[in-house]
Amino acid sequence: MPVQTQPESIFSQLDAFGHKKVVFCSDPDTGLKAIIAIHDTTLGPALGGTRMWAYKSEADALNDVLRLSKGMTYKCAIAGLNMGGGYSVIIGDSRKDKTEALMRKFGRYIKNLNGEFTTAEDVGTNPRDMEYIRMETQHVTGVPENIGGSGDPSPITALGVFMGIKACLKEQFGSDNLAGRSVIVQGIGHVGENLVRLLRDENAKVYASDINEERIGQIAKKYGAQAVSNNTIFDIDADIYAPCALGATINTQTINKLKCGIIAGSANNQLLDEEQHGQMLVDKGILFAPDYVINAGGIINCYSELMGFSKKRTLQLTENIYEATRNILKLSKSENISTINAANKIAEKRIADIRKVKSSY
Ligand code: NAD
Repeated sequence: MPVQTQPESIFSQLDAFGHKKVVFCSDPDTGLKAIIAIHDTTLGPALGGTRMWAYKSEADALNDVLRLSKGMTYKCAIAGLNMGGGYSVIIGDSRKDKTEALMRKFGRYIKNLNGEFTTAEDVGTNPRDMEYIRMETQHVTGVPENIGGSGDPSPITALGVFMGIKACLKEQFGSDNLAGRSVIVQGIGHVGENLVRLLRDENAKVYASDINEERIGQIAKKYGAQAVSNNTIFDIDADIYAPCALGATINTQTINKLKCGIIAGSANNQLLDEEQHGQMLVDKGILFAPDYVINAGGIINCYSELMGFSKKRTLQLTENIYEATRNILKLSKSENISTINAANKIAEKRIADIRKVKSSY
């Protein structure tokens, strides 16, 4: 007799997202509580970040890792990489709870997956943490350059986002020149700061915001940006909103307030609900650059590290994000579908095609 699942059960969530495997890691000695989710490995072994965050609940952590790992499947597919989608989250405050032992224990869980999952840094983790993981397993990228890795992928991620912003400007205004355009950057961490630098280098007006007030002041001063409080960003009349903090900032409430014509940033899973909010943006005439398309620079950098790092090739693939975004915007227009649905269509086609290749002789 089939086992009955509750609508909210873990297995029904895995079914809903289409996951292959989820591993729960618990180690009282180091205080490690982590979840590794492997979504799809049709294109290759799973690749994805490790996020350390003080989640309000275990259910929130599970939901985050399921969404992030599915996003990686699509990101690898659209970037043309031979990797599948995975992600991991460590539950805890990265400023207080992170230790060498905890990261190395986590590394051992990755080791036990025998290459099915390779990780890299994300919110709350850095190249030093990747170095600790590397002490236990080879299945980690983004390790420091002085030990043979490619280092922090954030500058490359920011470059890809910058290319995505330019592609949207071209579509909306006929020119991709940033001089005189205004951009709100929400979250000025590793990626956000690099994006602020690129935007200011092309003379864009930048509004910088973060929950860390001290950081806003530092970044504003360093790059000549305007510091704005995180609570007021949706009241600002700017050309572009670049979410570079956490996901789900685009929802019914914020779409109703948004004054900008373009949304393009690095945060993963920016739309709270892909269908509903993707369509709301179309109806409001706001151009949305699908997050997983334009923030692929970091994973391209990690992939390159796995394949034998070439800076030239990494930059080339990241600059291609401009054309990839233009193609998605064109498809969205010609088929009258949201930009996220256009991106999903291209990604799903590649996965389906390669699945056929692998299942045939
Ligand atoms: P980070 O931790 O260095 O920076 C995040 C910043 O956002 C921090 O300064 C934090 O204070 C701020 N923040 C957090 N919550 C906020 C909120 N509610 N409002 C405003 N600011 C807030 O992380 P990062 O590496 O820069 O990544 C940023 C985003 O980009 C994440 O969603 C990440 O998943 C995504 N991303 C990063 C990379 C990469 O290469 N680092 C690659 C792809 C996607």
